[in-house]
Amino acid sequence: MTHAPRPIHVIGGGLAGSEAAWQIARRGVPAVLHEMRPLRSTAAHKTGGLAELVCSNSFRSDDAEGSAIGLLHAEMRRLGSLVIQVADAHKLPAGGALAVDREGFSAAVTAALEGDPLIDIRREEVLAPPADWDNAIIATGPLTSPALAEAIRALTGEDALAFFDAIAPIVHRDTIDFGIAWFQSRYDKAGPAGSGADYINCPLTRPQYEAFVDALLDGEKIAFRDFETTPYFDGCLPIEVMAERGRETLRHGPMKPFGLTNPRRPQEKHYAVAQLRQDNKLGTLFNMVGFQTKLKHGEQTRIFRSIPGLANAEFARLGGLHRNTFLNSPKLLDATLRLKAMPRLRFAGQITGCEGYVESAAIGLLAGRFAAADRCAERPLLPPPTTAHGALLGHITGGHVETIDSGPRSFQPMNVNFGLFPPLGGVGRGAKKQALCARALADLDAWIGAAVPHAAE
Ligand SMILES: Cc1cc2nc3c(=O)[nH]c(=O)nc-3n(C[C@H](O)[C@H](O)[C@H](O)COP(=O)(O)OP(=O)(O)OC[C@H]3O[C@@H](n4cnc5c(N)ncnc54)[C@H](O)[C@@H]3O)c2cc1C
Repeated sequence: MTHAPRPIHVIGGGLAGSEAAWQIARRGVPAVLHEMRPLRSTAAHKTGGLAELVCSNSFRSDDAEGSAIGLLHAEMRRLGSLVIQVADAHKLPAGGALAVDREGFSAAVTAALEGDPLIDIRREEVLAPPADWDNAIIATGPLTSPALAEAIRALTGEDALAFFDAIAPIVHRDTIDFGIAWFQSRYDKAGPAGSGADYINCPLTRPQYEAFVDALLDGEKIAFRDFETTPYFDGCLPIEVMAERGRETLRHGPMKPFGLTNPRRPQEKHYAVAQLRQDNKLGTLFNMVGFQTKLKHGEQTRIFRSIPGLANAEFARLGGLHRNTFLNSPKLLDATLRLKAMPRLRFAGQITGCEGYVESAAIGLLAGRFAAADRCAERPLLPPPTTAHGALLGHITGGHVETIDSGPRSFQPMNVNFGLFPPLGGVGRGAKKQALCARALADLDAWIGAAVPHAAE
């Protein structure tokens, strides 16, 4: 008589944990997914749904020939990712980006996992991984519950570095003045689900921009102890922190006017443009792209309504400030994401030091596969370092150079980017990204089809 394998425990049903549980079940191994919501929530989650998107609804560029994140999407499609499959099914118009209807996306991930006979979902907070879990994945994310964070800190002997990031406000579309604002994607790019006219654009003259920057700098911020020395999640800097870095920073960042033409005044180039992107399937809500903030709520309403087109804006959600937690992974984790000091525990998602929804899911995908291979007494297959998965894994588990002085540790969460890939010789600058993408997909296909497993270090 053959026995079913013992289950693998996955703690956290976010982007990484949901993907990990799915991958484990695809190998015929049972998974128990422990998610504390809705019994206990975090400072950013709003629902009890699995794989909830806490801020933007964008999975960023879907260009698999010229962007590292688009390449990661393409690889995940080839690897049978649940997260990307569901994102594709729930995509919204967003220029060249893959953006999703957040509620439909989360509901579909939840339904897929609930409907899988090999996955047992338990709604409970795990305070510490019990000693009899011989194969577990911790995917509790940047907002890991304090009790578990403390248990992890005790296990690793490290100060789990906490840092902070901010979320962007969301506006009701019917409160935007379309006598001023207009729909257009930058350079009219249509992208995976778009029409080329997917963003709402609000134009600013130079005096309006200057006044806006002044208001951001003077606006009352949420007071925070030791705040000024707190490192932020770099892809999500508060808008007022960007403004502090220089008066022109926003004009070259989220408020850049390039590739946009106001249909009412086509000859005129605006000094700056604020953009809003569709946030839900109904098209009733739009989020202010790059406007994550730690301004007080009253200040946000006052300052953001000074943007032309938003004078009467009603906000479905205002921006906020949240904690982030991640491990010093290059030191603590082995090549297959296991805690060196306790290999029965594996980590996945943003807590490992990747950054972003897609990257978190991709690391969940790998952790799920590695854990299932362990359970099946196989040697886990490491993705080639030339692939986006391999490059990201390398950043987390080995590629990073630790600081050599006594300053703060230098390992920081990072989005996937071409700087993490082994360089390609003999290719001109213009063709480099395309060549890196082509090499990655060819190597990934070879890896998927590999008959002889690579040995994990
Ligand atoms: C405020 C904020 C804004 C962000 N904005 C963006 C963005 O716009 N775009 C982007 O790409 N990335 C963003 N990120 C970064 C990050 O990639 C996402 O948070 C992503 O969801 C991380 O995936 P994850 O699976 O690692 O964690 P999560 O998706 O957060 O999932 C972790 C899960 O674990 C659960 N959990 C925690 N502790 C326990 C416990 N003890 N027991 C059981 N369950 C537990 C949580 O409830 C949660 O469901 C943001 C992060 C934060 C905090």
